[in-house]
Amino acid sequence: RVKEKGRDGYLLYSEGMEESAHHSLHIKSELSEAIALNQLSLVYQPIVDRNGKVVCAEALLRWQHHEMGNIPPSKFIPLAEGSSLIEELGDWVLHESCNFINQLKAKHVSLDAVAINVSARQFNQGEFASSLLKVISDLGIKASSIELELTEYALLSNLDVAKQAMEQLKRAGISIAVDDFGTGYSSLSYLQSIPLSRLKLDATFVSKIGENNSSNAIVKAIIDMAHGLNLQIVAEGVETQEQYDFLLKNQCDTFQGYLFSRPLKEADFIEYIEHSQIGSLKSVS
Ligand code: C2E
Ligand code: MG
Ligand code: MG
Ligand code: MG
Repeated sequence: RVKEKGRDGYLLYSEGMEESAHHSLHIKSELSEAIALNQLSLVYQPIVDRNGKVVCAEALLRWQHHEMGNIPPSKFIPLAEGSSLIEELGDWVLHESCNFINQLKAKHVSLDAVAINVSARQFNQGEFASSLLKVISDLGIKASSIELELTEYALLSNLDVAKQAMEQLKRAGISIAVDDFGTGYSSLSYLQSIPLSRLKLDATFVSKIGENNSSNAIVKAIIDMAHGLNLQIVAEGVETQEQYDFLLKNQCDTFQGYLFSRPLKEADFIEYIEHSQIGSLKSVS
């Protein structure tokens, strides 16, 4: 069995990793058939404003394999990102999300936007902005009803390409949020040079609220900085009332997490909204 040596002379692959590389290859080849076999679906997680109103839904990909069961995106997205598979998945997600937006319209459910995750490779492929604009015009969707979620890596790994795409999208009316903010690059200067709407405060910061003064200070500082830059802030992974209270007190704009709702299937999402609208109507009467 051939073992390659890395630059520093360390073995690149251990016995166990070879097995997992084989496993990855298997998952990848199964994934390439997942669309055709109808194994993919989207779930939607509500994002609420300071009044508890659902203003947005984040579309999250799910893969139900016939033998392996439910495989989480954290496992298959990184594998797909290594090849053009991610572009196929990304296209599927875009179309499906757009159909969902039209469903919402048909059911008279009003949201500010549906947030769609876009991977670095998909975003930096050059044609991304134009093909997205074509899809939404073909499907009769308002640009402002779409928000894209991009990680710092997607935005910064190829800043020139990204900047052009962002300006094109921004002109058309599509907004962009930085996903998992605070976990990527340490440089903040890019925040001034690209047209962003929102930062999504990563769940790792939210989960540490109340642990000690310094973790609270970081959350507060990120919210203040976002507002100073005219950006809205979404807190990800809000699970407890204590976290929510702290975020409210510190002027966080919107909230997402199990405290409000898990990601829901399309019909359940619509039902959730209808109930929460009834709820808020009741509370004013
Ligand atoms: P993300 O975009 O940061 O999405 C938020 C993740 O946090 C989701 O995990 C969501 O289910 C989870 N979450 C939400 N609220 C809570 C909470 O209160 N507690 C905890 N512990 N988790 C919470 P999910 O659906 O497993 O997705 C993981 C990641 O996979 C996403 O992170 C995103 O980076 C990626 N992903 C998911 N769908 C897509 C997609 O359609 N395209 C691309 N490119 N990436 C996707
Ligand atoms: Mg996201
Ligand atoms: Mg995130
Ligand atoms: Mg994340």
